[in-house]
Amino acid sequence: MFLGQNSNVSVPLVDGFGRVHKDLRISVTDRCNFRCIYCMPAEGLQWLPRHHLLTFEEIERIAALMVRRFGITSIRLTGGEPTVRANLEVLVEKLAALGVDLALTTNGATLGLLAHKFVNAGLHRINISLDSLRPDRFERLTRRNELHRVLDGIDTALAAGLNPVKINVVVVRGVNDDEIVDFARFGRARGAEVRFIEFMPLDADEVWSNNKVVPLAEIVDAVAKVFPLVSPLHSQSPAAVWHYADGQGSFGVIASVTHAFCGSCDRVRLTAEGMFRNCLFATDEHDLKALLRSGASDDVIVAAIAKAVSQKWAGHAINQTHFIRPARSMSQIGG
Ligand code: SAM
Ligand code: SF4
Repeated sequence: MFLGQNSNVSVPLVDGFGRVHKDLRISVTDRCNFRCIYCMPAEGLQWLPRHHLLTFEEIERIAALMVRRFGITSIRLTGGEPTVRANLEVLVEKLAALGVDLALTTNGATLGLLAHKFVNAGLHRINISLDSLRPDRFERLTRRNELHRVLDGIDTALAAGLNPVKINVVVVRGVNDDEIVDFARFGRARGAEVRFIEFMPLDADEVWSNNKVVPLAEIVDAVAKVFPLVSPLHSQSPAAVWHYADGQGSFGVIASVTHAFCGSCDRVRLTAEGMFRNCLFATDEHDLKALLRSGASDDVIVAAIAKAVSQKWAGHAINQTHFIRPARSMSQIGG
């Protein structure tokens, strides 16, 4: 019998390395209104047919099982672009009712219209992805001329009371690494925590290479030259967080490549079509949709989840010879 089976009492979702999993990432769609150059080709991808997507009720059932049986405490909605899924606030309301810390990752373009709806439905916090503050570069990176909408989305999210509002910046050498200080200044001015993310080998067009990764140390040095920082750093896995010496906030770096946080990883994922993944970089998936749609009992689903987690590997091994790149990009897995 697997952990969590035949019980309504929560037991930890532990893998073979003793890591306890508390965080569930749910992708609600593989579609997107942007075409970020490292994530999707200009023409988009082969979208999943609608009936392949989990319904809100199916997502709610898995999420509720994970909360009740495994003590999951935080859920993040992502995609693709989660806000292109119609009536997302209905799902937000269902998941908020589970009593978890509920978050959303979005490109921000629709938040001007939707942020208040999400807050009213029970959303707590939000990460907004933004890789350039320069309109021409933003358009080149996303293939959309919508920087003004994302900036409006950030302001609306702050005004709606989402807390914290974090800005995710994927730093790619030769592309936007000259904007690190601009982003630090932007975050300080808005009261938002900027999180610089090392570029990972999950891009759609196979353009990733090690020399395009701007390492954590270089990012911190660039900020520290302009804004004195408090040391030592305070680590809030997966981000390492630095506070500004003048007390005006903080910024983080997610160094998945140069300082992998696999040893303390507490995340599992559900893709838009109901595949359970025990790691962002996993090369295999576990089909929960097939179980859901064949009438499986809660215990059978719980056992499948526990088994999938028990098979989690030690780490993703980026930079090692045996690293295997996942066949799908971030938008298809759920970033
Ligand atoms: N569409 C939403 C957004 O952009 O925030 C949610 C999905 S997106 C796939 C989630 C995050 O993954 C974004 O912050 C995006 O920049 C990041 N991302 C996508 N491909 C990446 C890569 N190869 N390396 C690092 N981050 C990546
Ligand atoms: Fe869309 Fe997000 Fe991928 Fe950009 S990173 S193409 S916004 S899913």
